[in-house]
Amino acid sequence: MNRLSFAFLLAAAPLLAQGRELTVADSSPFRPLALPSPNEQRGGSGRPGPRYWQQRVDYRITATLDTATHVLRSRETIHYVNNSPDALPYLWLHVEQNICGPTSITSILNAPPLVFGETAFDFSCGAFTGSPTLESAKVNGVDAKRTRFGTTMRIDLAKPLASGASLDMEFAWSFTVPEQGAGRMGRDGALYEIAQWYPRMAVYDDVRGWNHEPYIGAGEFYLEYGSFDVSLTVPASYIIAATGELVNPAQVLTSAQRARLVSARKSDSAIAVITRDEAGNPARTRPGNHPYTWRFTAHNVRDFAWAAAPNWIWEASNYDGIRIETLYRPAADKWPEAHKMARGAIKHFSEQWYRYPYSHATTVEGPVGGMEYPMLTFVANNTTREIQQWALAHEFGHEWFPMIVGSNERLYPWMDEGFNTFIDLDNAAEYFKGSAYGDTINANPLHMSPEHTKPGEEQPLISNPTEVRDLMWVGYQKPALMLQTLRFEVLGKERFDHAFRAYIRAWAYKHPTPADFFRIMRDASGMELDWFWRDWVFSTARLDQAVESVSVDSSGHANVQIANRGTMVMPAELRLTYDDGSVETVKLPVEMWNLGQRFTYRVLSKKKVQRAEVDPRSVMPDVDRSNNRWPR
Ligand SMILES: [Zn+2]
Repeated sequence: MNRLSFAFLLAAAPLLAQGRELTVADSSPFRPLALPSPNEQRGGSGRPGPRYWQQRVDYRITATLDTATHVLRSRETIHYVNNSPDALPYLWLHVEQNICGPTSITSILNAPPLVFGETAFDFSCGAFTGSPTLESAKVNGVDAKRTRFGTTMRIDLAKPLASGASLDMEFAWSFTVPEQGAGRMGRDGALYEIAQWYPRMAVYDDVRGWNHEPYIGAGEFYLEYGSFDVSLTVPASYIIAATGELVNPAQVLTSAQRARLVSARKSDSAIAVITRDEAGNPARTRPGNHPYTWRFTAHNVRDFAWAAAPNWIWEASNYDGIRIETLYRPAADKWPEAHKMARGAIKHFSEQWYRYPYSHATTVEGPVGGMEYPMLTFVANNTTREIQQWALAHEFGHEWFPMIVGSNERLYPWMDEGFNTFIDLDNAAEYFKGSAYGDTINANPLHMSPEHTKPGEEQPLISNPTEVRDLMWVGYQKPALMLQTLRFEVLGKERFDHAFRAYIRAWAYKHPTPADFFRIMRDASGMELDWFWRDWVFSTARLDQAVESVSVDSSGHANVQIANRGTMVMPAELRLTYDDGSVETVKLPVEMWNLGQRFTYRVLSKKKVQRAEVDPRSVMPDVDRSNNRWPR
């Protein structure tokens, strides 16, 4: 018990004695966050507990693309293992090609494009109103009762699926590939980018049961981990890039292409598997003209996407046993450098945070501005080198968040877009080092802050992506600023990096929640951070630190009075300039706000203070810098 609470008890005693209650809510900025209690699934250290479980889902898919009608026809088997302790009377699936159906939320809302600075993401369907035809749905060979609700579908089971039991579902379906598939897939001339394209199991977890948030544009996907075995049949002239490893190269690639891929395995610069001269020339790239079936397998991934085109340049190289691949059309003028950008990103993220775990990292150029799937990203040809590098590396950054660390992006964009934007900043700074862009990129989120943090308009990070008005700030830049501030101004680089890596390792191929993240960052950094997350994630608290006055006490020491005039608590850096010309920088810990909004720093020496300034490097999002200096 500290002296204050003892004094409080003494003062309260007469009131309690009279039978009147006196309760005071803890209003300290350091009170604990109200998180769900740790349990056997999710422990107090923020790691998966001894009885953590998640469902397993394995897919076998065969699909044929008819490039004359743009129809994709498919059969699919889902092997679903119920690792949960619950018997499941029904199962939920995502049927996301229904996003453009005439009665879908997206079609009816017809929301305006989401503007990200110079780039706009159009999640509408344009004039397209197609939806998939589900020809059959069976559970263990028997017709299944299914009910569709927009982009989700419920399958009612004849009897509940017991804990530990598994079942097989079979679907036959087809859909027409739209030109613009709500911003994430589609076609452009002969090129197809196919994603969010097959009935996929929703996540069933220990936190919320079924996670069946509809797909309406923002909020990408949240899926289980498992294996894929996918056979794709396309016209002879087409090359396919996909999640997973190509199982039958001898059947679909020429001997020259296979030989070039072997050379690429030993090369740390791009080897052309299909050269610029060969691109779009089927006679030089494909034997025969019958359709080809490409078979891919993938393990421990949460989704499968693919792209197909007859006119790609295809480049490959090796980084640390990983095949880096770029595929682009000859007219894409920013893409000759894309291979170097791709290599830089995979190398940077692997060395800094967690080694890339899959056999290849592939990016294709096409109509989708930027979208990520396991091992495969879709990126457009951009107008400048800087935007091209940003978009390309950002989509690859998603291989870490959320492909490896499988958080729920339908609910928490800050944990995937935000964490990714944070790791992208250092990567871009490294790639463009020595240029004005490279040397200032890390300060971008801070510089955006004033424009995006207007009181009453800003929303907290914890907001659902579909209800966020300023997604670029709330989902991307503010969480990046939050982690930068935590890394450099609160914990320090070593301490932060150790904890952030611990988070990635603990939750690789699993489903962390915000509480798990907060707990492991505390556990591994060695610092209580509830105060930090409260201000940055759950509120729109604003920082305003000020130097109020400097006086000299009776023993001759200078007293510098600092005030916290805003609603956010943070540590502070205080720069003192003395009358002998010397300068001292003092790091004031956040605990200075334990007892209130004012703190007096007593200078250890008896030097006379001439100037005092908080945040002298201007690295904090301080909303009023005019009071940071004394004298004013
Ligand atoms: Zn993103």
